[in-house]
Amino acid sequence: MNRAEALSLVKPHLTEKRYEHTIRVLNTALTLAERYGVSKKQTELAAIFHDYAKYRPLKELKHWIETTYLPKDLLQFHHELWHGPVGSILIEFEHGIKDEEVKTAIYYHTTGRKDMTPIELIIYVADYIEPGRNFPGLDDVRNMAERDILKAAWMISRNTINFLMSKNQPIYPDTFHAYNDLTKKVY
Ligand code: GDP
Ligand code: FE
Ligand code: FE
Ligand code: FE
Repeated sequence: MNRAEALSLVKPHLTEKRYEHTIRVLNTALTLAERYGVSKKQTELAAIFHDYAKYRPLKELKHWIETTYLPKDLLQFHHELWHGPVGSILIEFEHGIKDEEVKTAIYYHTTGRKDMTPIELIIYVADYIEPGRNFPGLDDVRNMAERDILKAAWMISRNTINFLMSKNQPIYPDTFHAYNDLTKKVY
């Protein structure tokens, strides 16, 4: 599937702002793919589809979790965590994309996980550092992403956990697993 076709499939499912975010994630991810020697073709597909399921009705997201192999514990956590896993299912179901590396990059883009693959790291980092974002400390992460993708991903998982804890929010196990694993690898 080429870039134009993928974009045309995603666009009707997103708001204008979310589509623009997707384009920025795409450009950021392609720069990282070049830098870290990851397939541009796979990175392009994962970036374009990463938020594909973001605006599905909650009832529909819940249905996909209940009726597929997705872990049921997702339903005990914030619905913001559902669009990655469900998106990875929908791109195969609706568009025949079976590439496991593309699918897991979409699946884990919100939480990360233990032992993230190179393409998973790229989508996780690109989603956080794309030029439209503005988090505290973001320029440090952007600079690190050019030098050491593992360290940049570690900073993101640490920041995300700190942010969620400051808001008294529950934290999904994969979010902790990403942080613990990256901490061991980086220090
Ligand atoms: P977006 O879809 O481009 O807006 O970005 P993401 O899919 O990466 O993230 C969506 C939201 O999920 C962000 O606000 C994160 O802070 C939040 N998030 C990430 N991990 C967790 C978690 O473990 N628990 C909860 N409750 N939220 C999380
Ligand atoms: Fe997302
Ligand atoms: Fe993210
Ligand atoms: Fe996103």
